[in-house]
Amino acid sequence: MGPKVYIDGKLCEKADAKISVYDHGLLYGDGVFEGIRVYGARIFRCKEHVDRLYESACAIALRIPMTKEEIVAAMEATVAANGIKDGYIRLVVTRGVGTLGLDPNKCPHPSVIVIADTIQLYPQEFYEKGLHVITVPTIRNHPEAINPRIKSLNYLNNIMAKIEAINGGTVEAIMLNKDGYVAECTGDNIFIVKNRKLLTPPASAGVLKGITRAVVMDLAAGIGVPVLEPNLTRYDLFTADECFLTGTAAEIVPVVNIDGRIIGDGKPGTLTLELLELFRAETRKQ
Ligand code: PMP
Repeated sequence: MGPKVYIDGKLCEKADAKISVYDHGLLYGDGVFEGIRVYGARIFRCKEHVDRLYESACAIALRIPMTKEEIVAAMEATVAANGIKDGYIRLVVTRGVGTLGLDPNKCPHPSVIVIADTIQLYPQEFYEKGLHVITVPTIRNHPEAINPRIKSLNYLNNIMAKIEAINGGTVEAIMLNKDGYVAECTGDNIFIVKNRKLLTPPASAGVLKGITRAVVMDLAAGIGVPVLEPNLTRYDLFTADECFLTGTAAEIVPVVNIDGRIIGDGKPGTLTLELLELFRAETRKQ
């Protein structure tokens, strides 16, 4: 018995887990999703992820055909069916099957998909030595286009930035916004530490309001570190004492080099490592 995938109320074998080529999720990237961690067989920050999914859906006028409680039950059933203790859930809602035209009103039945699997972690070396990252030419989506707060299935903008990062010899890209301020990375939020204050771009700079971002901000406040959300420039990054990225998959990963400039002393920062330890304790606590 292989892995099981939840699609529209049924758990099916991975090999049979297929959707129509007429689904607007495939044809147009019309849909929303969440990436969620499972620690110790429990769904981390479940409510926050489900709430964000509904807000993303609301913003694109997509009606999720299940209650939040039903979504949680579907995730729990899929995690249990796959025997996942420590893993990753991909929760996807697509606009559903429609015509070849754009009109979402021709898609009467949105699809809900839950995949629960093991997780591909960043190598341990990244946490011990820190990442090298670069700023890239592709800017983060303008908030009046697809607002970055919407976790939509259309990640092409981020994929282009990721290609630029890889072509530049790094694994992650920092995207600026239309005004030249720092926004975020292709799949992670960005933080800097300056004079033992924690700074991260505001949502208005055009970023996904990361669940990990919020946990880290709470943890920092809890140990008396002031947390600020100003607009940040590349200058602020280059002159930071520490820098790190946050995301569901990455947790907290130190950054030691940006655009060829060494950040701080070129090693993962002390507050960064303290927050990583606190974060990991938080994942065991729930
Ligand atoms: N920004 C982007 C663009 C993302 O896709 C993600 C999620 N992978 C994040 C930030 C981090 O958000 P979260 O902490 O909720 O995973």
